[in-house]
Order: sequence, then C-alpha cells, then structure tokens
Amino acid sequence: MKTKQSYLSQLPSVDELLKDKTVLEWLEEKPRSLVLEALRMAIEEKRKVILESKVGAIHELPLHHSSLEPENIINRAEDILNTLTQLNLRPVINATGVIVHTNLGRSVLSEKAVKNIEAVAKGYSNLEYDLVKGERGKRYYHIEKLLCKLTGAEAGFVVNNNAAAVLIALNTLAQGREVIVSRGELVEIGGSFRIPEVMERSNARLMEVGTTNKTHLKDYEKAINDNTALLLKVHTSNYKIVGFTKEVAISELVGLGKKKNLPVMFDLGSGSLIDLKKYGIFGEPTVSEAVYEGADIITFSGDKLLGGPQAGLIVGRKKYLDMIVNNPLARAIRIDKLTLAGLEATLMEYHDEDKAVKNIPTLRMLTESLNDIENRAKKIQMELKAVDALLLKIDIEQEFSQAGGGSLPLVKLPTFVVTLTPVAYGSPLTVNMLEERLRKGKYHVIARIKDNALLLDARTIQDSEIGELVDSIKSALRD
Ligand SMILES: *Cc1c(COP(=O)(O)O)cnc(C)c1O
Repeated sequence: MKTKQSYLSQLPSVDELLKDKTVLEWLEEKPRSLVLEALRMAIEEKRKVILESKVGAIHELPLHHSSLEPENIINRAEDILNTLTQLNLRPVINATGVIVHTNLGRSVLSEKAVKNIEAVAKGYSNLEYDLVKGERGKRYYHIEKLLCKLTGAEAGFVVNNNAAAVLIALNTLAQGREVIVSRGELVEIGGSFRIPEVMERSNARLMEVGTTNKTHLKDYEKAINDNTALLLKVHTSNYKIVGFTKEVAISELVGLGKKKNLPVMFDLGSGSLIDLKKYGIFGEPTVSEAVYEGADIITFSGDKLLGGPQAGLIVGRKKYLDMIVNNPLARAIRIDKLTLAGLEATLMEYHDEDKAVKNIPTLRMLTESLNDIENRAKKIQMELKAVDALLLKIDIEQEFSQAGGGSLPLVKLPTFVVTLTPVAYGSPLTVNMLEERLRKGKYHVIARIKDNALLLDARTIQDSEIGELVDSIKSALRD
C-alpha cells in the first residue's frame, strides 16, 4: 500500500531537477527565472494529480509509477518552458483574402525592404550623419529626394503613420484657427481615427460645410473668413456616397485656395504611387495626381496601398513642409530607423513600375491575374490530396477578395478560394472547430467561414506559406 504522502515525497525538488543535464542546457539559452517557473509548474501539476486522486492503493491513483520520474517531469517542464518563452507577436498566414488587413499587420514587405531593415538593424548606420561632410545629418534626408522624384512634389517628410501626419499638418498650419471640410468627408477610419477628433487635438477648429451627400465650391467659399487657415479635402477611402452626390474636386479647391491665398491640404489615406486604373482597379487617386492638381500638402500611409512599413508620408510645397518639419511635435511622432530602412527600400522599387508590381507583395496581390491565383489554389488542393476524404471535402470556388485597409471599398476582386468542408457523417469535426484549430495551431492560419465551409483565399496566401498551410490542415485533422 502506498499512501499519497509517499507519492508526494517521491516528487523531485526543483533543486534536484536543476542538476539534470537537459535542464542545465536550457539554462545556457533561456532565462533562469522562466526555467524555474516551468519546473515548479511541472512539479505542481503532478502534486495536484496526487492530491486529487482517490485515496488508497497504487492502482487507484491515476498515475503510472514512472510519471513521477524526473525525466517525465522534465519533459512536461519543457513544454511549459516552450510556451513561456514563445513570443506573443508572431507570423500568421492570411487566408482571408483581405490584402491590406489592418489586424494582420497590413503590409507584407518586399524582400529588399526586409533585407535593408536587417542590415540597418544589425549595426550602426548613418541615420543622422552626413557621410560626405562627416558631420551631423538629417534623418529625413534619406527619403526626401526619392519621395519628390516619385510624386513630383517640392518637398517630403515622413512620420510614424498617416494619423500623425494629419495631426502635425493641422497643428502646424491651423493651430487656433479654422479648417474648412465638407460634411461628406468627416471620416472615421477603423481604430477610432476620426477627422473631427484629430482636428480638436491638433488645436484647429473644424468648420463643416455642405451636406453629407452634396458639397459645392460655393459652400467652402462662403465659410472663408479672417480666421480661416486651411482648406482640407479627405479622400473617403473606406466608404463611398453614391446616388445624388456632389463633391468638390481637389483642382477646384486649389483654385479657390489660390484666389483666397489659403493652403489646401489633401488627406489621401491610402495614397497609391502607381495608377491602379491600368490594372482595372478604379477609385484610388495617385499621389502624383494630387501633386499635379496643386494640393499644397498631401498626406498618406506607408503601409496601405503603398505596401511599405507603417509610416505617414507628407509631400507638398517646401514652404509648408519646412514649417511642419520644425514643429516640436515632429520629435514626438518621428519615424524610427528600421521603418525608414524598410520605407526607403520600398520606395526605391517604384522607380520601375513593373518591378514594383512584382516585388511589393501588396501590389502583387492586388494585381495578380486570376489565372495565377487559380493555379495557387490548385496547388494547395493537390498538396491536400492525401487528406482523408472521410473527414474533409476539398474544392475550389470563385469568390471575391478585398483591398482592405479602408481602401477601395467598392472594389470586388475576383479570386479563387480553396474550400474545406467537414464531412458530416461519422466525423465529429465541425467547420468552427477546424477554423479554431487552424487559428490556434503552429502557423496560425486565419480564414473565414461561409456556409458550412472554411474558405482559404489563394490571393493572400504567399507561395512560401503553402507548405505550412498544408501541414496546418493535416495536423488540424489529427487533433
Ligand atoms: C487610413 C487613413 C488614415 C490613417 O492612416 P494610418 O496610417 O492608419 O494612421 C487617415 N486618413 C485617411 C483618409 C485614411 O484612409
């Protein structure tokens, strides 16, 4: 007869386990505190099993004698340690078909951008050092020329994100004064960026004109007074007012601005650097167009349709850009060197549009031919051929992907999806279980459910991820 007490006394102590060879190896690489925590938790689990077991003889305990051996406890501690040391922010596979997916990190960076980030991260850099003169240089110098070249603007500047770009521009040009905006353009972007609220925090006063569906040039004109600082146009990137509508084009606003000697700002939101009309995608003005039309200050995101890292880009007239750069707020929202490295490499790709469309994943996914998408879907289906047909029906269907990131809300991009339908009879696997297992599994596949199937959009799955995706599905069926 063995008592609980005798089982408990059989459990090794943390100190004993710390002498084990495997544990000593862990200590070389992993933080000691986490190793100790894992060992304690593993021992505690066993203690609990003993205490909660039925009193009495050995055969009544839900324990095999060997499960109290140090080796067994160390194995369990290793699992715990792996969980404790796993990073929380990790890669996922985006099978949703939403290209600029804000919750999934928006842009997949080009290879060159990733390489440049690594190169700059690994060592020191000339971030604020002029290599020619051998003296202090400017952080913003690295991208300004490139931005001007690509957009035709006189000057360029970059901050943390577009929300910050809008904030600093309004604060610089309109602090304590009025900014005129159409009621049809008072947008809210996901994540609670609202033009009226940003305006308030920038200390500029919002002067709304027109109505939700119609605003005329004369509405702006009538609202102008001595305290007007700026005319603002906001690209309603994430919605479209259709039907009986009228918005004032940027060129008309520029005309009015000239007449009244007021600067005109255009918050483009996504701000594409290439003309997507060529690829059959309508509704997104390019930055060069806005510059050409004469907007004085133009703001846009680095990680929406541009396909770079999170950043806020500002281009426009040097006179205004100089004022913005010298605003003390600039320091609080300044761009970090890794972002700058990724952004410069991304912008560099735009010198050659054909290469940009191939090398920048966001553009590639946006413009990929239906044929290429179908081939990827077929490849995934092929690789899943061995998967038990008793558990899962695998088909390919036509669906629609989305640009996402609040861009191009009306554009439906035809695509192909691989559909996984759990076979009802004899299988306890439901589509919800499958979705959850893929999401929580090793590679974190994010997909959506439609009717009783899980849809994997081949457009946003990277070629390099197919192997991991297939492994994920196989292991989800095994669980
Ligand atoms: C997305 C967006 C913003 C905010 O840009 P972030 O880069 O996400 O900060 C601002 N204005 C418009 C019109 C947008 O579409």
